[in-house]
Amino acid sequence: MGFWRTQLSGPTDPARDAGWEDPPPRKGFFTDTSICIGCKACEVACKEWNGIPMDRLGMTGDSYDNTVSLGASTWRHVAFIEQTTEGVEKARESGKRLVDLGMPSIRPSERLGTEPLVGATAMRTQDAVPAGLPLGGPGTAASLEAGPETDLSDVDAAQRAAEEALATGTLPNFRWLIASDVCKHCTHAACLDVCPTGSLFRTEFGTVVVQDEVCNGCGYCVAACPFGVIERRDRPEGEKKAVKNEGIAQKCTLCYDRLGVDQKPACAQACPTTSIQFGDLDEMRRRASERAKTLHAKGYTEARVYGADQNDGVGGTGSVFLLLDEPEVYGLPPDPVVTTADLPDIFRKAGFAGLTMLAGAAACFIGRRP
Ligand code: SF4
Ligand code: SF4
Ligand code: SF4
Repeated sequence: MGFWRTQLSGPTDPARDAGWEDPPPRKGFFTDTSICIGCKACEVACKEWNGIPMDRLGMTGDSYDNTVSLGASTWRHVAFIEQTTEGVEKARESGKRLVDLGMPSIRPSERLGTEPLVGATAMRTQDAVPAGLPLGGPGTAASLEAGPETDLSDVDAAQRAAEEALATGTLPNFRWLIASDVCKHCTHAACLDVCPTGSLFRTEFGTVVVQDEVCNGCGYCVAACPFGVIERRDRPEGEKKAVKNEGIAQKCTLCYDRLGVDQKPACAQACPTTSIQFGDLDEMRRRASERAKTLHAKGYTEARVYGADQNDGVGGTGSVFLLLDEPEVYGLPPDPVVTTADLPDIFRKAGFAGLTMLAGAAACFIGRRP
């Protein structure tokens, strides 16, 4: 088990910690959810490059998102956060400045048969600045009545339009957020710490990879991951033949094979909007923080960086995100903690308890007559 050798919490260079002598700069992702259009090109590229078998075929019936979640056969998952009237109204009560990215699309939106939504427009420009819209702002169902001449980059105008729409009771009844989720490649990776076979290992790029041929399918890593990312691969329902790596723990490798030959990960390569950026992790953190500042300056006060804090419970992650609302809205833990962080304390207490028992047992014999 790897935790005997490595630092268990706090900021560190995980590659050096794992014994790499002269590792290259740590690599990672910056996923900017504000310019994701939900095309799922990243999901498909990941499946294609890694030869991942089908996990399910069919419609969920209650969502446009038919891949549902990350899993053993979905290493990139583009989550559609679909908030209905109830959720929207509840969120509105909080008084927060909310954003609606509009329905996932690669074409001008057909919603209400009107102008393209800003979320969709943004993806078509590399230097897209407007990231979605304040709920009830221009472009949304509520504010389309304000007319196409509304200045979409003017937050005050957006707010005025939203207030006007609210006053007339024309509330939007649905909002979309989109986020392409992936393994976090944690600085302190519980999956790796608890693996009894050494199947999970830390690469020289600071990423976490499973060696299929070494995994015995015990599933310890599945229970340990604080993000619910890693999973054992099951045979899809109704499938008679065994599938590739059946019973083996599977997750994103951050395209270890591609990094080794100086190629971008397949998902980042395929993303048409640069929502998924790849590079040196320090640079990814810097870009995420800059983007959050830009959005704040435009009045999108709920924009926030997720995963860049090296003092959080997992020492920061290799996959950094720009979110447009609280992590819980995206199904992410607000304060993830590596499940092995408390091991030294547990061992200390167990040792103390053992010594106390020994001392008690010894005391029973002291003073007894021979
Ligand atoms: S997110 Fe989960 S599977 Fe990925 S490195 Fe962290 S603990 Fe491991
Ligand atoms: S880095 Fe590679 S393995 Fe990971 S999600 Fe992207 S394409 Fe898939
Ligand atoms: S991250 Fe990029 S490729 Fe993936 S769904 Fe969003 S825009 Fe499409």
